[in-house]
Amino acid sequence: MGILCLAAYLRNKLDVDLLLMDQRVENASVESVVQRAADFGADIVGLSLMTPFASMLGPLTQGLRAALPEAFIVVGGPHVSAFEAGALAGNAADAAVPGEGERALEQIIRARQEGANLTSIPGLLWRSGGDDITRNPGPAPIVEDLDVLPFPAYDLLDVTKYWALQPMAHLPPRKYLSFFSSRGCPCRCIYCHRVFGKRFRASSPERLVAEIEHYTKAFGVTHIEFLDDIFNFDPKRVLAICDLITKRNLKLRINFPNAIRTDVLTEEVLDALVGAGLYHSAFALESGSPRMQKFMGKHLNIDKFLQGVRWATDRGVFAHGFAMLGFPTETEQDMKATLDVACNSRLHTATFFTVVPFPNTELYAYVAKHAPDKLKGVAYDAVEYTGSRTNLSEVPDEVLFGYQREGWRRFYLNPGRIARIARDYPYPWFLPYYIPQYMLRATKGLFAKG
Ligand code: SF4
Repeated sequence: MGILCLAAYLRNKLDVDLLLMDQRVENASVESVVQRAADFGADIVGLSLMTPFASMLGPLTQGLRAALPEAFIVVGGPHVSAFEAGALAGNAADAAVPGEGERALEQIIRARQEGANLTSIPGLLWRSGGDDITRNPGPAPIVEDLDVLPFPAYDLLDVTKYWALQPMAHLPPRKYLSFFSSRGCPCRCIYCHRVFGKRFRASSPERLVAEIEHYTKAFGVTHIEFLDDIFNFDPKRVLAICDLITKRNLKLRINFPNAIRTDVLTEEVLDALVGAGLYHSAFALESGSPRMQKFMGKHLNIDKFLQGVRWATDRGVFAHGFAMLGFPTETEQDMKATLDVACNSRLHTATFFTVVPFPNTELYAYVAKHAPDKLKGVAYDAVEYTGSRTNLSEVPDEVLFGYQREGWRRFYLNPGRIARIARDYPYPWFLPYYIPQYMLRATKGLFAKG
């Protein structure tokens, strides 16, 4: 979605030719990415990535540098928001853009077209000679009014390739489209980068529903998902969006793989969402311990969380939960509380993670100050996030991972829950697909070598 938004913005603002490529979905080698960029004759190459794929940056940028010696290589996406100047270490990229990239990339291209230098682009990280990296003063510029953004450039990628893959949510491969309706989140979770900043900015209901209507009709799709940080920050906006979707008779099937803050949900909002087509949603608990909620800055009201999940499932929504174990200072009592809340909730399914501190978060700063040894050897390259071996808590590794395994077992080996999953999961024929994944996670580490 990031590169679709960037491409749409750039072609709207500038006279540029664009080529988009998703290396992961195309399962493309580094050599073929380089070849495509070289064949295109790229003047500027933008690479957007998440941290688990950062090890590719070295070979990719070096290959691009060799094939396109004059090209300007700029890195962005969540990895840069986390690692900032570190995202330029060990690779041949020229610059990095933390946060959202539309305006920064526009300014970089204008500077390149006009032969100007990069010093006037706020927040930009760039190589100012040898290994020296300069960070320009000021925050990276953002788009204040999301309504001025053009629709994401879905025409520049073969979206059908995504329909053959497992999507982010626990749903089978199917025809669907993703949307961002807002950017930014004012919540204060200490483990989060807030890539889009702390201020909530949102598309108007009219603009958003026009985009949804345009693309669902263009691609003949009814399934959609939202990838916002916090879609339901403004309940009135949610009601207006649902009202428009219903009035325009879009007949959508809506999924939230994230984006919902559960303890502020109301029955009125849930009725509207279900009326607009909501059928599957994730609900982030993270911890069932009020003490840990306070520590992590999420301040989730646990009773209201349970009520929100109950209201949703009463209305036929399939509910997936997220839980995190192993925060600094977390004790066995806190972990038990998380397992109790998750296992006694009306969630249909849940994922139990252990906490990983990402650079440039308050959590990372806390660990760096209080237990710096725990930052040694943190594996940021794992794409199976539940397999992390990092332990920031007060308890030994075997106890933390034991609680994590117990979470999987207690949650799923419950006849009532199994019956509810079988009854409510929208694609029952797909359930066996998850059994190996469950076994892997429920036995985490037990059969690992070394
Ligand atoms: S609610 Fe989500 S997006 Fe907002 S600060 Fe917490 S983790 Fe980040």
